[in-house]
Amino acid sequence: MKSIGRLHDLALYGAPPAFSEPLHVGYPSIGNKDDFLRRIDDMFERRFFTNDGPFVRELEQRIAERLGVKHCVAVANGTLALEIAIRALGLQGEVIVPSYTFIATAHALWWQGITPVFADINPATHNLDPAAVRRMITPRTTGIIGVHLWGRPAPVRELQQIADEHGLELMFDAAHAFSCSYGNELIGRFGRLEVFSFHATKIFNSFEGGAVTTDDDELAAAMRLMRNFGFSGYDNVIYPGTNGKLTEICAAMGLTNLDAVDDIIAANRSNYEEYRAAIDSIPGLSLVRFDPDEQNNYQYVVIEVSRKIGLSRDFIVNALHRENILVRRYFWPGCHRMKPYRDLFPHAGLVLPNTKEVAEKVIVLPTGPSLPEGAATAISNILRVLLSEKDAYEIGHSHE
Ligand SMILES: *Cc1c(COP(=O)(O)O)cnc(C)c1O
Repeated sequence: MKSIGRLHDLALYGAPPAFSEPLHVGYPSIGNKDDFLRRIDDMFERRFFTNDGPFVRELEQRIAERLGVKHCVAVANGTLALEIAIRALGLQGEVIVPSYTFIATAHALWWQGITPVFADINPATHNLDPAAVRRMITPRTTGIIGVHLWGRPAPVRELQQIADEHGLELMFDAAHAFSCSYGNELIGRFGRLEVFSFHATKIFNSFEGGAVTTDDDELAAAMRLMRNFGFSGYDNVIYPGTNGKLTEICAAMGLTNLDAVDDIIAANRSNYEEYRAAIDSIPGLSLVRFDPDEQNNYQYVVIEVSRKIGLSRDFIVNALHRENILVRRYFWPGCHRMKPYRDLFPHAGLVLPNTKEVAEKVIVLPTGPSLPEGAATAISNILRVLLSEKDAYEIGHSHE
């Protein structure tokens, strides 16, 4: 890694990139590979590849124990987990969701003939604004899906109050929030149920995978039927179901990463602290904070670019990409601007000003255990140079 001092050191002026290897957001963690391979040997020995195998059961039990929740129903991926959860709750008509989330939150509804109604977020938290949720309730509304965005808890208490007042179901998309807490209670037991994703980019992964957690026995039993075609016992179908089963090879990866997840979180936390120390002193940038009184997984290091600095967010993203720092703008431009919702609800943006503002200023920075030593500081320093010499940059840019 070369030193970053002057603007003309940057790759924009033909120098090699600051990092010779690309740094990714959501780079998959692998835990202890030997442990994984031992589990795979066991799996071949048993010839038990799927259908509620021993690894799936062990994974479910360990997750339920860790989160302090009665049931964990493992599923093939987070999107199927959302779909099964939505169906188990009997949602229909309209369901209120944030637009500032991964598209699967909305698609899981639309896929089963339910209309996602987009409510605005609080720009300070990036999570649903309870007052905005209230404004979107109609006689057709049956539920609310809160998203714990970046692993920071949604306003659980306020949303529960709205749900109770209006007789609505409340569930959470907790895809970002494994090992995060709300009011010092681990996420996984809020609302009627919560949905996790174990996709390769998430805090702990099973290649692909997901789960629904709940304390409700009936919901858990219904979801176990749904993920396995509705089979009760060997050949008796008592329910309309789908194929949502998690495979043993994925569960083996989940177990291996679960062994490592506390180390992954510790590495993330240290990267976050390093970024925070450096970014706090850069005018025009602010780091999205994790509440030190809660448990956090620090999987998303998110900065906001002030409109006032005169450099666009996308310009900064492109400049960092040239340095092999593959930062991401996330959830831009919001679900309501993607198909099919943009055509169905062309005016949805009128009630989503905070979604627009946040979607236009967010950059997610690389983190994870494989981020090289000192990289968080180096990346921050590149940002500092970019912003402090932005006039020169803009001139350079306009002559491109
Ligand atoms: C990743 C993610 C999902 C989907 O999970 P998959 O396992 O990829 O299907 C849903 N919602 C949010 C907020 C996510 O980040």
